[in-house]
Amino acid sequence: MLDGGADWLHVDVMDGRFVPNLTFGANMIAALRKLTDKPIDVHLMVVEPEDYIEPFAAAGASVFTFHPEATVHVQRQLDAIKKRGMLAGLALNPGTPLTHAEEVLGDLDLLLIMTVNPGFPAQSYLPASTDKIGRARALLTAHGARAFLEVDGGITAQTIAAAHQAGADTFVAGHAIFASGDPARAVGELRRRCMVAV
Ligand code: ZN
Repeated sequence: MLDGGADWLHVDVMDGRFVPNLTFGANMIAALRKLTDKPIDVHLMVVEPEDYIEPFAAAGASVFTFHPEATVHVQRQLDAIKKRGMLAGLALNPGTPLTHAEEVLGDLDLLLIMTVNPGFPAQSYLPASTDKIGRARALLTAHGARAFLEVDGGITAQTIAAAHQAGADTFVAGHAIFASGDPARAVGELRRRCMVAV
């Protein structure tokens, strides 16, 4: 992935409660951190993400993104993440309205629009996502917010241009890269599709 030119490494952390699957913990982040200085973008699909802020910061995470439904005090967690030296991100599921992010836009370093329902790999991009990305971009612009606008789920050479044109600037791809047999080429192709679309 790194040799292929990925800018960040995105790690999906699942706890078997917020989403059905179990994946990685802080040990994986620590292992990745030994391999690279590039940003490690950690996406927590867990309940009570506040319990993970300290161990993930200590393990070397660069970006810490959680879902607003998973905690009672969203703004407090955003603050705590930044105090530990990480960028703070909020992730919105397809059914979660943008208003969850609107109240804390000034606290966000990253807004993640889920383009599938989280929990499983290799799902298809939900077409309604494109409109939501556009509305998220308009919201950020209207508030002068500088957050990255990230998309995650079903991003492939076929879907990335629509997300890019709608205003996303940060793209997570898993299956499209790992199942390709040639990660470097797949990363290059995704990048090219964005350039062509401009
Ligand atoms: Zn993710």
